[in-house]
Amino acid sequence: MWRIAHKKESLWVKWVHSVYLKHQDWWTYQPKKSAGWAWKKLCKIRDDLRLGFEEKGWLQQSYKISETYKWLQGDLPKVEWAAWIWNRYTSPKHAFISWLAIHNRLKTRAKLEKFGVCEDSSCLLCGTAIESRDHLLFYCTYNRKCMTKIARLLGITEAHYNIEATWIHWRRKLTDHVQRKVGLAALTSVVYHLWFARIHVFWHKAVVHPNTLFKGICTETKDRVIQLISCKWTRKHCKLLFRISSTRPN
Ligand SMILES: [Zn+2]
Repeated sequence: MWRIAHKKESLWVKWVHSVYLKHQDWWTYQPKKSAGWAWKKLCKIRDDLRLGFEEKGWLQQSYKISETYKWLQGDLPKVEWAAWIWNRYTSPKHAFISWLAIHNRLKTRAKLEKFGVCEDSSCLLCGTAIESRDHLLFYCTYNRKCMTKIARLLGITEAHYNIEATWIHWRRKLTDHVQRKVGLAALTSVVYHLWFARIHVFWHKAVVHPNTLFKGICTETKDRVIQLISCKWTRKHCKLLFRISSTRPN
């Protein structure tokens, strides 16, 4: 479109101008009914992108397809998954499983049933619902106990049932830089431990008690974070670490 509007020197653009446009204005031109499907489609796309060309001034500068893509997507909330997941505070094994969860790549029983490799799609932890990612991580009563305990420990009220909303909520609530890193590391630990609690049921036919899981999440978060204590840490940060390491499930 940009090339047609600028009458760029290419054989195809010259052909379009001589066969279709014939000195008419590209932005007001309407294709004839007898025109080819592809040409009509191009004119339709022109109409869809007209506002973008006017608002963003794409005609006055060198054109980039990426800018059109961003414009079509609109203003989405910024979700910095890479920075939130892959950082020094997060254990690599926790980050890996959380990364799969974020991209909905965990092979839950709902997915396995779709692939035809599993006949029973019920949740291995509670047995009362279909085991989808959102159920396993947010709706399952087993998960809520762990998630609520960890959130309470960090001073957050957890009421979200969606992976993106939960991460954004925790990040907003934890305004202090170190506390935020510790909190998000604990959240990735929750995702990892829930996934392996579910695998444990599959192989051992026994459900790990939520309190044991909670203790494991706290211990692994503490073991990771304790290596990163620096001179920039304040009393507040040390208190948080102490709270995580000395907490007792109740
Ligand atoms: Zn469940």
